[in-house]
Order: sequence, then C-alpha cells, then structure tokens
Amino acid sequence: MTALEIGGEALPQERKIVTEIPGPKSRELEARRKSAVATGVGSSLPAYVVAAGGAILKDVDGNQLIDLGSGIAVTTAGNSNARVVENAKAQIEAFTHTCFMVNPYESYVEVAEALNRLTPGDHEKRTVLLNSGAEAVENAVKIARAHTGRDAVVVFDHAYHGRTNLTMAMTAKAAPYKAGFGPFAGEVYRAPMSYPFRDNDAAGTKLSGEDAAKRVITMIEKQIGSEYVAAIVIEPIQGEGGFIVPAEGFLPTLVEYAREKGIVFVADEVQAGFARTGKMFASEWEGIVPDLITTAKGIAGGLPLSAVTGRAEIMDSVGPGRLGGTYGGNPTACAAALGAIAAYEEDGLADRAGHIGEIIVDRLTKLQSKYPEVGDIRGRGAMIAAEFVEHDSIEPNADLVKKIADYCAKNGVLVLTTGTFSNILRFLPPLTISDELLHDAFDVIEAGLAELLPA
Ligand SMILES: *Cc1c(COP(=O)(O)O)cnc(C)c1O
Repeated sequence: MTALEIGGEALPQERKIVTEIPGPKSRELEARRKSAVATGVGSSLPAYVVAAGGAILKDVDGNQLIDLGSGIAVTTAGNSNARVVENAKAQIEAFTHTCFMVNPYESYVEVAEALNRLTPGDHEKRTVLLNSGAEAVENAVKIARAHTGRDAVVVFDHAYHGRTNLTMAMTAKAAPYKAGFGPFAGEVYRAPMSYPFRDNDAAGTKLSGEDAAKRVITMIEKQIGSEYVAAIVIEPIQGEGGFIVPAEGFLPTLVEYAREKGIVFVADEVQAGFARTGKMFASEWEGIVPDLITTAKGIAGGLPLSAVTGRAEIMDSVGPGRLGGTYGGNPTACAAALGAIAAYEEDGLADRAGHIGEIIVDRLTKLQSKYPEVGDIRGRGAMIAAEFVEHDSIEPNADLVKKIADYCAKNGVLVLTTGTFSNILRFLPPLTISDELLHDAFDVIEAGLAELLPA
C-alpha cells in the first residue's frame, strides 16, 4: 500500500469515535512507552497515530481525530500532502544522503532559491539549511555575531526559540523548558514585549506599539549599550508565548532602530512562517524587512528542515566551511520542502488561511459574548489563540484551558494549549481543512464550554 492509500489525503475527512480516546491499543502502547521512552518527552494526546491525511489523524484504535495543531504548525499544507509525499518518495528512491558538505545536490540549491525569492525584501539574499528551528536560531546568532563583531543578543518576554543551550537562554519560560538545565549561554538580554491584552495602564489606556518599542530601546541603551548588540531576535507573532501579536508600530520601530545602530534584526518565523498567518511570512503584515529570517516547522510538510535566509552581505560575512552540519539540508527534506512550497504558492493556501481565521474568530467571538472567561481572541490567519481568564478579572485561567483540551481530546478534537501562564488555546489547523470539519471541531469546543461553564 502507498502512503496515500494508508492515510494520505485519501483518509475520509470526518471525525469518528469508535473507542474511548485514548483507546485500549493506545493505552497498551503508552504502558510500553513508559518503560522505554524517557519521561522528559511529553505528548499532548497519547492516542497513537497510524495514519494522517488532510486534517484527520487516525489512531491505532480506529478513531479519527480532527487535527487543530498540525504537529505544531508543521503539516500546514495538510497531513500527508500529496506533493510532499510524492517528492520525498522519489528522492528516497534516488539517494538518501551524501552530506551537502561532501557532495552537493540540486534540491538544496532550489530550496535556497525559493526562500531567497519568498522571504520579505528584494535585496540580494543567501540561505543556509539546517535541521531544526533551534539550530536555525543558533546559526542566525552565530552569523550576526560574526558580521557585527559584537556579543549581545536581545530577546523578549514570552519568547520561545528552542531547547538547545543557547536557545534555552533565549526562551523565556522556565518550566518546562529551562528549569534545572543551566548554566545558560551568556550575553542574552530580555526586553519587554508588546502584549496588547495585558499592556494597559491604570486608566485602561493601551500602550502603543511605538511606546512599547521605546521601552525596549531605553532598556537596550541603558542596560546593554547598542554598540555591543549583535542582534535583536523576535517572533513577529509569538508562538509558544501565546500568539501574541505586538501592537501596530512595535516591529517597524524596532527594525528602524536596529538599522540605525548596525544591529542585525532577526525575525524568528519558525512557527508563523509559510502561509500560516494569511501571508507567506508574518513579517509582511507590517511590511518589515528583517535582515535575517529563521524558518522551520511548515517548511517541509513534516520532514526535519530549517533555514536561515538573509542579506547576502551579512550571510556571507561567514567564510567557507564555517556553517553546516551532517544532515543540514537532507535531500529528502529538501524534496519535501519543494513540494510544500509548491502547495503554499500554487494551491492558494495563504488565502485559505485567511478564510479559516475568519471562521475561527467568528466562532470564538460568539463564545466570548457568552463566556467572559474568553478574555482575548487574537492572531492572524490560521494562527489564532483564545486567552482564558477568571470570570471577573484578567487573571490567567489555566485550569479551564486544560479541561477544555481534555474534553476536546475525548471527543475527537486535538487542540493545543500554550502560553507563559498555560491559559491559552491555540488553533493551528492544516490549511486544507474543510469548513465543515472546522465547524464540527468548534461545535465540540462549544459543547465543552457549555459543560464546563454551566450558566
Ligand atoms: C518551535 C520553534 C522553535 C524551535 O524549533 P525546533 O524545530 O523545535 O527546534 C524556534 N522558534 C520558534 C518561534 C518556534 O516556534
């Protein structure tokens, strides 16, 4: 059987519950896992997957779950997207690995050309391919430091950049990402983020994007000194931090400041990139042109690949042989990426993200009018979050979010939770999800809230 016949897009696009979730076979696997897999690796929903297609995950007990997570914004072009699967299969049959640093191959060059063309700005660009988002961020920092001859890196509250030593230092949240894993890399400085839902003064006035950026600039000037700063690294829409969209003007003000001070501006689009927000990259929403941009997750439809793309003069300030890695730009991952990128460009997936976002925001807004616990609805395109609070305040309500996610899982809908306070439901469906399936998922969420918050 081919991948498509087993799961692929041939999988019927409907929710189906045939056992409890997780069912008996999943529970058996979970017991085996406990004595084989390190405890430190968690799973949001321990229903073991045997096939996935479009927006449906099929588990070992025969249940079909609606996927509102896309493996954390990875299978954005749809689970088992046909272009991705066909390209990867053909490449595996030709060769699996040479190491680009030993013998190069065309698909690596083609992915670099595509990223240079698609990322914001029409300046001359170069790309290096790597394996994971964290590795891309590490390399962006290496390149920025080599280019500027400076050490300091500025990151933000609620940021998430990965789990390697440098990226742990750059990530904000202690538990579970950092606690007990230090000492961390030095010369990483944390600045206040623009967080419109929580940036109110005593009179309830919102902090503007420009003023929030000024707060960052003052911090840099007074606590670091801009002449020591190699890079400002920021997610244009924060992912794990809770889909925080900074106030308008925040990002452009910081880009302008960075340019003036010779600081490399790095947009970490590992989660927000690739059609997810309704544009190919989230940076486009405010027309910012980052010096470097890090990508991963959605880049290759599920195969491990990441990239740093940026201004040729910055990228090429690092000499030959100084960047790379054994698997970086693996040929199967590159072939898959060319399939995924073709899907984003040719199947109108950015527009589809916009449409999906409208449905989600509409459904959440209706819930918000009934339940004050839905404190904030935000995001762009098909990257939408609902921040849950206590009934009569903006105190985070993590307990309710956990209960909704559990209710959804039991009823065949996979939703992800996130945020510094773990009080956020985030929606990242594959962009090929049908309107019907999306509405079905939100019917479940609505029923869950009705059960958990009786009038
Ligand atoms: C997931 C993520 C990373 C880390 O990517 P990995 O592939 O898990 O190493 C970095 N930055 C952002 C914004 C992410 O969402």
